[in-house]
Amino acid sequence: PAATDRAPLAFTVTPSTHARSAAEREAILADPGFGKNFTDHMVTIDWTVDEGWHDARVTAYGPLLLDPASSVLHYAQEIFEGLKAYRHADGSIWTFRPEKNAERMQRSARRLALPELPVGDFIQSIKQIVAVDGDWVPSAPETSLYLRPFMIANETFLGVRAAHKVGYYVIASPAGAYFHGGVAPVKIWLAADYSRAGRGGTGAAKCGGNYAASLLPQMEANENGCAQVLFLDGETGTRIDELGGMNVFFVHGTDTLVTPRLTGSILEGVTRDSIMQLARDRGMTVEEREVTLDEWRDGVASGAITEVFACGTAAVVTPIAQLKGKDLEIGDADAPAGEITMAIRQELTDIQYGRRPDRHGWLTRL
Ligand code: PMP
Repeated sequence: PAATDRAPLAFTVTPSTHARSAAEREAILADPGFGKNFTDHMVTIDWTVDEGWHDARVTAYGPLLLDPASSVLHYAQEIFEGLKAYRHADGSIWTFRPEKNAERMQRSARRLALPELPVGDFIQSIKQIVAVDGDWVPSAPETSLYLRPFMIANETFLGVRAAHKVGYYVIASPAGAYFHGGVAPVKIWLAADYSRAGRGGTGAAKCGGNYAASLLPQMEANENGCAQVLFLDGETGTRIDELGGMNVFFVHGTDTLVTPRLTGSILEGVTRDSIMQLARDRGMTVEEREVTLDEWRDGVASGAITEVFACGTAAVVTPIAQLKGKDLEIGDADAPAGEITMAIRQELTDIQYGRRPDRHGWLTRL
């Protein structure tokens, strides 16, 4: 039978024998930063060609034992996801549209010739880790527990083909507020010499290789005082694709929101989709279409484009003050955050943190 026809996997739970004390945990949660501290447990689910998904378990967080010939180490057959658990004022813990991440992971899996994990098992894996490590969800404003599901090919085989043995894991990392002292508009860097995706490539998949390819241009961005790198399409080099880790939006006037359409080379962001819905709810016109670098330049010069922002799970919504590149500057580096940008950001975070009704049913209780 198809993997989705079977009953959900049952998880075994083996509590860690070396979990940190409440005092140690609270010290970490007081200033967690991002991605450097991890909770006491992790989820593992194994897959083989013969058995399918099996042996779902929660165990102590710890190193993976990988054979040096594991296929992921050689051919990068790997995908991942990123979503957050949010603590509401009443202490309850929620996550945001996890089925979207589960479905995206299935699409990534198809592209990387990895097995698809059923949506129900993905959501269960998130529930399981938060059930044991819920105390690691911080409660200060704009903090969260970042959840990182990932899947690797771990067959011991150097032949170049889809692995017959795969592991799915979930780890969790407390995350501090992305912006300290208020949301700050950023400068971004145009990576003119590099593409992150090509036609028929893996741009729409959340696979590690895409991020490896973005690191060099990201270094160039940082050297030029920019927070993130902007990629143009790999075919013509004229259209806006996305940032290294975020999607891009343009506000035209006060009533139109424009974002690059999904071409197969852009990651379909959950935040992107949610923002389009919130904008429609506000009565704005939303356009998913081709956006060229020329349109950006001319639109800012003429005043037609009034605000530009980036969005993604990590920073939610980040105003873009300026696009810089070799012989290029669009926008004013000192520009304040746009009004519509900030209103959308507020509305989205209000829903995520339970401060506003969840009218679209986007929250799942963990
Ligand atoms: N584009 C890329 C390349 C990303 O890595 C991310 C982060 N997952 C996004 C866009 C935004 O996606 P989401 O809103 O689902 O976090």
